[in-house]
Amino acid sequence: MSPHPKAELHLHVEGTLEPAMALRLAARNGVTLRHRDVEALSAAYDFRDLQSFLDLYYECMAVLRTAADFEELLAAYLVRAAADGVTRAEVFFDPQAHTSRDVPLAVVMQGLLAAIDGQEAVSVGLIPCFVRHLPASDALASLQDLEPWADLLLGVGLDSTELGHPPSEFAEVFALARSWGLHTVAHAGEEGPPAYVWEALDVLGVERVDHGIRCIEDDALVRRLAADGVPLTVCPLSNVRLRCVADLAAHPLPRLLDAGVVVALASDDPAYFGGYVGATYDAVQVAYGWSEADLGRLAAMSLGAAFTG
Ligand SMILES: [Zn+2]
Repeated sequence: MSPHPKAELHLHVEGTLEPAMALRLAARNGVTLRHRDVEALSAAYDFRDLQSFLDLYYECMAVLRTAADFEELLAAYLVRAAADGVTRAEVFFDPQAHTSRDVPLAVVMQGLLAAIDGQEAVSVGLIPCFVRHLPASDALASLQDLEPWADLLLGVGLDSTELGHPPSEFAEVFALARSWGLHTVAHAGEEGPPAYVWEALDVLGVERVDHGIRCIEDDALVRRLAADGVPLTVCPLSNVRLRCVADLAAHPLPRLLDAGVVVALASDDPAYFGGYVGATYDAVQVAYGWSEADLGRLAAMSLGAAFTG
């Protein structure tokens, strides 16, 4: 485990739902999952691509019903994160994934805020993400629903199914969020082309790009990211698990760093992708033969990429 103080800037709280917790909450809330035990549910975590992961991800989310469920979920993550040296977490959640199944936004916010207040080890910012598989009009309505909590939010993001859903569709939503003084980030260039990263930068005006790894196919884009110091939140274990890259040896992370791109290593959906952020640092250390000093520089870079500490 890497002990270096670090920030985790690409973490979906719904993606920290471990099979054991999913089954426990399912029993507590009377929700039936297709997979009835930890072995069967764990075996189902063998994904072909982003969409096959998302299908199971949204199915498991059905167990999250009450404020206590959201509090337990985030609290468990924060304990794990602190053990990995995380001092700052900027945590994503998907409001539409909960309101669309009749869980009120107030329930989600109450639970997440209680988890943050219940600990002191990790400084936490919350970033609601809009899901791209629903229309931009739905995202706009979701942002308007969030207005009572706007002062408690760090920023907004964009996630879920990327291909076929270019960032520019959400320009109006992001403009409104920026007018409220919120930071902006977006998933782009995970499965989608470099053009989506350009759109995230130039149309949405994002300050960080989540994943962004396909920028490596566009030299001008890599130069732009490096010159402007726009960080990428890079999640190598996720990229391998979802087959965006064949393995860590093929991952562009070392090339991005060599090109001067600011990178914040993160775990994405760690319950599903085989490792929390500490395991992510361990994996890249082994894959690339990096020293403890190299990991320390990466950890410091992640803290520098955080919006606030
Ligand atoms: Zn993500």
